[in-house]
Amino acid sequence: MAQYLNTATFLELARAAQACAAAPCSCAKTPLEGWQSQPLSLDETQFEEIGTLLREDDPEPTFTEYLPGKTTYWAVDAPIAPRYFPYNRCAVWQCSLCGRLYLHYVEGGGYFVDRRIRAVQAALIEDVPLEA
Ligand SMILES: [Zn+2]
Repeated sequence: MAQYLNTATFLELARAAQACAAAPCSCAKTPLEGWQSQPLSLDETQFEEIGTLLREDDPEPTFTEYLPGKTTYWAVDAPIAPRYFPYNRCAVWQCSLCGRLYLHYVEGGGYFVDRRIRAVQAALIEDVPLEA
């Protein structure tokens, strides 16, 4: 099972990755600042799963989203709040060529399944506690 990353660790990794990932890379060809269906051109073998935001002690992660103000799920500046949907079930992928970090999860179920990916931007990570 992939290693659980708490927000502090996740943020640290995101900052480190951002600092060294200025190089052009095939993984950055399609803009992924906001959630996208995984482009067919994306080579999954190029990525390494370095952890997960899914807590081992949380068998039923919430479907509540954290979208303050007028932001939406799809917005390129939507906050990345690891305790909220869909971040709370995301795998953290790192491009083995350039070091960029991505979040990945599978949306839907049954007839509708969509593999989604979003680039990690350290500035958008917010450690927001879940509402009781
Ligand atoms: Zn890359």
